[in-house]
Amino acid sequence: KEELYLRSAQQDARTSDGKRIVVAANIGSYADAAGSSREGAEAVGLFRTEQVYLSRQSSPGEEIQFQEYKKIAECYSPREVIVRTLDIGGDKNVKYLGIASEANPFLGYRAIRLCLDRKELFQTQLRAILRASRYGKLAIMFPMIADYEELAAAKAMLEEAEEQLAKEGIPFDDRIKTGMMIEVPSAALMADVLAKEVDFFSVGTNDLVQYSLAVDRGNKQVSYLYDYCHPAVARLIRQTSEAAHANHIPIGMCGSMAGDPLAVPLLIGLGLDELSMALDSIAQVKYEIGRLAFESCRNLAETAVNCKSAREVRNLLLDFRSGVI
Ligand code: PEP
Ligand code: MG
Repeated sequence: KEELYLRSAQQDARTSDGKRIVVAANIGSYADAAGSSREGAEAVGLFRTEQVYLSRQSSPGEEIQFQEYKKIAECYSPREVIVRTLDIGGDKNVKYLGIASEANPFLGYRAIRLCLDRKELFQTQLRAILRASRYGKLAIMFPMIADYEELAAAKAMLEEAEEQLAKEGIPFDDRIKTGMMIEVPSAALMADVLAKEVDFFSVGTNDLVQYSLAVDRGNKQVSYLYDYCHPAVARLIRQTSEAAHANHIPIGMCGSMAGDPLAVPLLIGLGLDELSMALDSIAQVKYEIGRLAFESCRNLAETAVNCKSAREVRNLLLDFRSGVI
């Protein structure tokens, strides 16, 4: 098997009937980026920039960030790297930002909410990403968007950063793609509206599951309820994917569901164009994709969204894997 996986890792992923699926890596630093090209990643579907902040005693300035993003852009060029803007708060705290403790941090001051409030922090990061964008193929992605106005505000900040750089004569990729994560149920439900405002979607199941099933993603006592196979989650993904395709934009997934070989046929059937995952899942997922027929994945997804519970979907996926259906 190991050998088969390694062989698949070297090729672009395609189902047996020819449907192309981009298999990408989730990374958190330049060190990860260097590793992921060896593992067969065709792109970076999620660069979590939090590490750049978490590994320091004070806020990294524009130059430090620029250097880090530039190295990653160059390492991957001409492949795409989706750089997610700062997703701090919730379970990830940064001491020097002085975030007050909250009763419900996952429902509070985090990610894009914090960035839209701390404009200087956000502007510094956007400038650094834009400056790095001329050294490869970068895309920008906003986390935790729950609402149209929030997306509009984030895009306005990006435009402001672009105008500043242009005025200063600093070059950047002025055709850089802008996308958003779908990780809040309101965004999935409003996907038809939001799809008109971005170049791509990426589904973050780690949060989407916690918010749609009302289960804290880090709470062991209720972890038995935290299941990305829940048909409610499949329905949210399907709705988002239909909205993306109706508006001619691609939809990826960067939550950990994307790297689970059991879930992959369901995700392909739900219409995902890109799956982004931890480095060590890439070779196996590519291999599994090659053994799937798109048409049967679609039938599987149709059955899954009509299941009654997560348990029923899981059993369905197990049957599918063992060739029973
Ligand atoms: C997600 O929520 O699925 C996701 C990819 O983001 P994170 O795990 O960093 O919250
Ligand atoms: Mg998330």
